[in-house]
Amino acid sequence: MEWTRIYEGKAKILYETGESESFVQSFKDDATAFNALKKGTILHKGPINCQFSSTLFPMLENKGIPTHFLGRVAPNAMKIRRLKMVPLEVVVRNRVAGSLVKRLGLNEGTELLHPVLEWYYKRDDLGDPIVNRDHIDVLRLASHAVLAEVERLARKTNDVLVPFFAGKDILLVDMKLEFGVGESGKVCLGDEISADTCRFWDSKTLDKMDKDRFRQDLGQVEEHYLELFRRVVGHDPEF
Ligand code: UDP
Repeated sequence: MEWTRIYEGKAKILYETGESESFVQSFKDDATAFNALKKGTILHKGPINCQFSSTLFPMLENKGIPTHFLGRVAPNAMKIRRLKMVPLEVVVRNRVAGSLVKRLGLNEGTELLHPVLEWYYKRDDLGDPIVNRDHIDVLRLASHAVLAEVERLARKTNDVLVPFFAGKDILLVDMKLEFGVGESGKVCLGDEISADTCRFWDSKTLDKMDKDRFRQDLGQVEEHYLELFRRVVGHDPEF
């Protein structure tokens, strides 16, 4: 069956495959930062991020977090459940980094007393503004019940991932999650979990192993994506 491209984003492409309950999402090597003002490519990023996410989604499912993942179909592509996406980015933070340094005037790396959850409205033309529950409500972006479930699952995802990565000598500094609602009304984790969407630091050296290497021109971007992959997945990616 032919795949029909229905949406192309900055890092992924969504295809219809003729199956009514699934899509295929493929991962690109393209990298963007600062609302796409900075553009480039990271060698093998597509397959690395796809296989990294394909390792984490089933692990999260086993811990009771529903995800859209249905199986990997190519080195850089996975079959996913069709969801009605909630137009919010949910950021969960364990340490201060990125925009929080500027917003709260805290030093990068400061440990937060407890995980901090933030909502961002997915609107490229507005630069994805931070929003609160009242904004979400008046914009009718999600019902109270869906929002409560999204928050519960986002916090639970963090509670599962922090010790998982700590066991691999990696600090999960922060991450961005996206959720959607399936046919049955079940809220599922969607999108991806990768070095593009999370900040990962080596817990011994505090070396950055994520997209900040690209954002901040730190060099050795591919090498760090690969090292992170090997540490987490336990073998080399398939290209
Ligand atoms: N993030 C993302 N997509 C975005 C914005 C942020 O995946 O459009 C991730 C980012 O990689 C980090 C977390 O969300 O892990 C928090 O990002 P922050 O708000 O600090 O913004 P940034 O400084 O990355 O723009």
